[in-house]
Parts: sequence; C-alpha cells; structure tokens
Amino acid sequence: MNTGNVLEDYEKMAAKCLRCSFCKFIPQVAIKSQEFSTTCPSIDRYNFHSYSGGGRLVMALALLTNRLEFSPDVLDVIYKCTACGGCDVACKYLNRLEPLEVIQAIREKAVEVHAGPMPAHQAYTQRVQSAHNPYGEDHKRRFAWLPDDVKLSDNASVAYFVGCTSAYRRKEIAIATARVLGAAGVKFTILGEEEFCCGSPLLRVGDRKAFEELARHNIEALQRRGIRQVVMNCAGCYSIFKVEYPHVQSYGFRVYHTSQYFAQLLRNGKLKLATPIPKIATYHDPCHLGRCAEPYKTWRGIQFKVLTFIQLAIPPKPFLRGNRGVYGPPREVIRQIPGLKLVEMERNQEYAYCCGAGGGVKAAFPEFALYTAKNRLREVKKTGAEILVSACPFCSTNLQDAIRETGEPIQYFDISELLLQSLPKGGT
Ligand code: SF4
Ligand code: SF4
Repeated sequence: MNTGNVLEDYEKMAAKCLRCSFCKFIPQVAIKSQEFSTTCPSIDRYNFHSYSGGGRLVMALALLTNRLEFSPDVLDVIYKCTACGGCDVACKYLNRLEPLEVIQAIREKAVEVHAGPMPAHQAYTQRVQSAHNPYGEDHKRRFAWLPDDVKLSDNASVAYFVGCTSAYRRKEIAIATARVLGAAGVKFTILGEEEFCCGSPLLRVGDRKAFEELARHNIEALQRRGIRQVVMNCAGCYSIFKVEYPHVQSYGFRVYHTSQYFAQLLRNGKLKLATPIPKIATYHDPCHLGRCAEPYKTWRGIQFKVLTFIQLAIPPKPFLRGNRGVYGPPREVIRQIPGLKLVEMERNQEYAYCCGAGGGVKAAFPEFALYTAKNRLREVKKTGAEILVSACPFCSTNLQDAIRETGEPIQYFDISELLLQSLPKGGT
C-alpha cells in the first residue's frame, strides 16, 4: 500500500504497464476453474479496461502527462475499486508493478485538487470529524454494546480497539470478542471516549491529512494508557494500525488481530473449547487481513532498464506478494472447534476474492458492493459449506447482505461468534 508517495513518484511505474491484463485474474498457477479465475471485482462488474488495475495505471500516466483531467468519468473509474489488492498480487507474477499503490496515489491527488472523493465519502468524512465515526452515531454511545457480564480492568496492558463498525453496526462481534477475552481470563480495557475511527475509510478514499490526525490521536490515546498489546477484530483497523500507522508515528505497543490473539490463547490452554458445532464451514480471507496486511517498507531508490524486460533496482526493492498476511491463525482457530469441518474456497489466502465492501465502495456504490459479495457467495456455495466464517465486521455486513438478498441457506459468523458458541457452557 502507498505510504505517502505522491502520484508524480509513480510516472515510471505507470509507463511500464504492458496492458497484458494479467491483473484481471489470479496468477495462472493458482487457477482451479475458469468460473473462479478472476481477481478484480471492478473489471468483473464494469468490463472495460480502465476499470482494472492496469487500466488505472494507464489513467495515472494520462493524468501525469496532462492528457486527462479529473472529470466525472475519471472519478467513476478511480472510486469504483475496492482497494482489494488483487491486481497488485497478480502483476508481480509478470511485471512487478504495484497498481494498488498507484490507485491510492491517484485518489490522494484527486482529494488534493478538490476533485475527490465522491459525495458519499465526503459525507462520512464530515461525520468522522464531528462524531468520530463514519456512521454519525453518538460518540458517547460507542461502548453502549458492552454487556454487564464483561468486566474491564482499569490498569490493563491489553486494550481491545473495537472500531466503528463493530461498535455501532456489528455489535454481536464486539460482544462475542469481549466475552471470549473475558472467558480466557484476559485482563483488558477499552479506550472509552478516547477511541476514534481508525481512519481507514478516509485514507482509502484519498484523504491522507484527515487520516493522519486520527492515527496520531489513537496512537497517543493508547500510549497514555500504557497499553502494550492492542487487539482488534476489524481487518480494516488491523491493516491500518499494522501497515499505515507506523509511517505516521512510531508506537511501542504490539498489534494483534483477534484471530491471532485467540489462536495464541488456544495454544496456551487459556481457552478450552467443548461445545461441538457439527457443520461444514468455509473461511473468507478479508483483503485487509490478508494480502493488504503485509508490513510495508518504504523504498526509495532507482530502477533502470538493463535489457528490454529486465529492470534493476538499487537498492533492491522489497516486493510484497501478499503471502505474508494473516492466513494461518483464523484457520487454526476454526480447526480447533469440535465437530466443525473446514473446507476451502478455490480462491483463498493471497488469491482470495474480495467481499466487495472496501475502498469506500459500500458507501458510494452499494449495488457494486452487493454484486461482488454475490460473486463470492457463489464460490462459498460451491464448497458445500453450511457456514461462512470471516474475521471482519465490514465483510460481515456485505456478505450477510448478499445472503439475505439471494436467500441462500448459508449462516454467517465472525470467528469470535463461533468461538463463543464453542466455549463450555458457563465459560472455560
Ligand atoms: S484493487 Fe481490487 S478492485 Fe481495485 S483494480 Fe485492483 S483488483 Fe481491481
Ligand atoms: S498492471 Fe501489470 S498485470 Fe496489469 S496490465 Fe499492467 S503490466 Fe499487466
């Protein structure tokens, strides 16, 4: 992901796009069927080259060479992208370009020249500024979901960073997370009114300045409390803390997604599961917990052509292939649930197909978000799974919207909800 580079830094990269369209598909080695071979929800839906990772590189070059300006049509292309990173992983199998970084830089340029983001994004940005959450809900009720049976610990070194979607829209995930942590005997706290939106919805649509203010606020709030470990159940929050916050301000605490934290609690015997769930489940890898959660190292150097297709980078450029995301821990947790059988979808881990909600798409283009979730649901159905599990409240909302809309007999659970169901009655 882009870590502060500006669009002008990407002119050489944009010029290197071969227009080969590899970024519309998962890498050939990973394809199992034609039906589930694509990787880009945007080109799947709009079927015009500009709506692909490569098409957006061509657009970046045209913007940089003044052959294009930020018209409504250009903004449509820029923002009908879920920022899922599928193109980024695919291109590196051939040409080592990073289309997602360039897409992010185009969005930041659009905001800089006051052409973007889309009206729906501007509305939620204003709500974040006034209410500290994109839903415009009462900030004082951010923790109204907290059940009486969950006890917080004032001097805890572990904080549960709840995130806006779990706090206001997917409270069942927040409740399950807090109860599982409690059942494992983890002494934890929450930030209360000091927790603000993590900033992910703002950064993804190009508003870096507003994002950086939120990042500093949250880092400082956690540091003031002496927090050593931060646990979060939202893939968007996780990616933003893990990958983006360190470029804004360094921090001394460790960041965990709940799947990692729960896997550790199970390994250490702090959580014991007893209640069987005798069903077949499949796991959807959230993009921002998977390929977009790799730690990014800023690279500044030069690349030059040695032979027609051979480039040399000095110093060597670290290429992210998406394979160092959080893939093992959620599967480790699911496999330990008694009676539950895990089956994989054709596209999984770094090749997983997006749920459709990210990058500001759910807010600005809900029909596109639903289209993508329905595509993912077809793949779920093919596995024969009765339960769809994931690990992100944003995926939860969009995938459940698709389940409701299609009437498919598939149950959806967050990983925390499944764990809670599988605890011995009355705790561990
Ligand atoms: S980030 Fe995802 S939706 Fe956007 S162009 Fe790349 S593959 Fe397509
Ligand atoms: S971005 Fe990469 S994979 Fe896509 S068309 Fe350009 S060179 Fe090919």
